[in-house]
Amino acid sequence: MSENANPATSNFIRNIIDADLKQNKNDGRVHTRFPPEPNGYLHIGHAKSICLNFGIAEAYPGGLCNLRFDDTNPEKEDVEYTDSIQNDVKWLGFDWGDRLFYASDYYEQLFDYAKNLIRDGKAYVCHLSADETREYRGTLTEPGKPSPYRDRSAAENLDLFDRMRAGEFEEGECLLRAKIDMAAPNMNMRDPAIYRIRKVAHHRTGNDWCIYPMYDYTHCVSDALEGITHSLCTLEFEDHRPLYDWFLDQLPVPCHPQQIEFARLNLNYTVTSKRKLNELVTHKYVSGWDDPRMPTIVGMRRRGYTPEAIRDFCDRIGLTKNDTVIDVGVLENCVREDLDRRTRRVLAVLDPLKVVIENYPEGDTEYLDAPYHPNNPDMGQRQLPFSKEIYIEQSDFMEDPPKKFFRLGPGREVRLRYAYFITCNEVIKDNAGNIIELRCTYDPETKGGNAPDGRKVKGTIHWVSAEHALKTEVRLYDRLFNDPKPDSNRHEQDWKDFLNTESIQLIKEACLEPSLLHAKQEDSFQFERTGYFCVDKKDSVNGKPVFNRTVTLRDSWAKEKNK
Ligand code: ATP
Ligand code: MG
Repeated sequence: MSENANPATSNFIRNIIDADLKQNKNDGRVHTRFPPEPNGYLHIGHAKSICLNFGIAEAYPGGLCNLRFDDTNPEKEDVEYTDSIQNDVKWLGFDWGDRLFYASDYYEQLFDYAKNLIRDGKAYVCHLSADETREYRGTLTEPGKPSPYRDRSAAENLDLFDRMRAGEFEEGECLLRAKIDMAAPNMNMRDPAIYRIRKVAHHRTGNDWCIYPMYDYTHCVSDALEGITHSLCTLEFEDHRPLYDWFLDQLPVPCHPQQIEFARLNLNYTVTSKRKLNELVTHKYVSGWDDPRMPTIVGMRRRGYTPEAIRDFCDRIGLTKNDTVIDVGVLENCVREDLDRRTRRVLAVLDPLKVVIENYPEGDTEYLDAPYHPNNPDMGQRQLPFSKEIYIEQSDFMEDPPKKFFRLGPGREVRLRYAYFITCNEVIKDNAGNIIELRCTYDPETKGGNAPDGRKVKGTIHWVSAEHALKTEVRLYDRLFNDPKPDSNRHEQDWKDFLNTESIQLIKEACLEPSLLHAKQEDSFQFERTGYFCVDKKDSVNGKPVFNRTVTLRDSWAKEKNK
């Protein structure tokens, strides 16, 4: 058995599992599950749970992890979600093999087990209304009162439960409840519901059922039926653990998994509640679940985040027992580090200013060698066309530059990346006084970026040949919220008030180096000096790739904060 000695990956859950293995608990098996409810798309919080559950299975010899859809809420669930969830888990790099399960596959077994409870006097059909049930339940400081239906005979309960299933009662008319303890300090133990009536079709079982099992009952039984050894869940289920154990103790299930809670992932500047993400989509604050600003897996993927970066992030934040808020900058840094390793560097001008090189021969084009990575020759190189008219970034020129501005200004010389030194001689303006063109000269002796006389220039700027530029759309994405805690329920303010109105900036016609014409969907690049960008997989067409900014080169938010 593997002793997990690696401090980078060891955590309190692995310590528990290690101890279990030492005692040969569960016959030395390690079996986890990831149990999403198919009522929305997966988000970065789920990624933490996926990496944890599948990661643990991978870390132990013979370890297994199931993918199980916890589909007990017929109204909100849909195959759109079961499909997307499977895609997302695969994309993150995990494999459930042939262990894909649905809680709805256990409906018949769950029904039979519920009858066991009834026969044993541990469950009863209750006709209190929702309001009465609440009233009878008591409060945190007062015990509840027993329902008047609590002491029915098993025979009567079995008959009523069968009639519930047969559709003889209307929604809300009755419930099947566990008979535990109406005075329990833990409210979850005060005769919780096991089955409710819902006369709606289910996305998998159709109209076979009009009663549906409750989450707490379904979850533990599903775990046990699948032979799960360690059932990992977020802290809000801590108070439900006694109920998890109670059901399994009453029932003839094949095993009794151990529930272990961990802190959910909270990210600043981000909302991760599925209800809120759904609202953003439904009310069109974003273009869809896969809008590149969404913290969903599909959104992050479209933005250009890589599975490696997301997994690295989940490793780095580690696992704790108390709730913390992680800075979204940590995630962005993981993305930067991964893209830094894997992307080719290219030249792209997002906000073009035309430069005419007066002493360059009219109509000539030359092709300059340019490596795709300054110190990784394995990435190869391309040839950049250079000609008399080029574009540079508006922000790389100032008419009246301060001392520390090392880019272009009247009379100043800069290096064009992989090309020549140029000097600015004249600034052309339109009638309104806007700069529309620069007149420059180049030094033919500086080809490749060095002067034979040893003279230095302080600045190197990027450029694109005007005639050869690929003109296409580039989208600059930024954080969706401009407040670190958008959903911290503040007075008079709705979480949507904190939406960042500048989270998307559309550039209709950026000028990119022509090699990018052949970029494929989801390819990522570093646009030198600007950021990391990927080819949008939805809106790009052959010959017209559209680029999404994945992340800037540096953490501009941290800089902003420090000011
Ligand atoms: P939400 O609160 O966004 O609706 P959920 O918990 O209802 O999420 P499920 O589909 O039930 O969503 O979640 C599947 C698994 O992912 C559960 O085990 C849940 O605990 C875990 N999970 C959900 N959100 C997070 C999070 N932010 N951090 C860690 N794990 C999470
Ligand atoms: Mg849930």
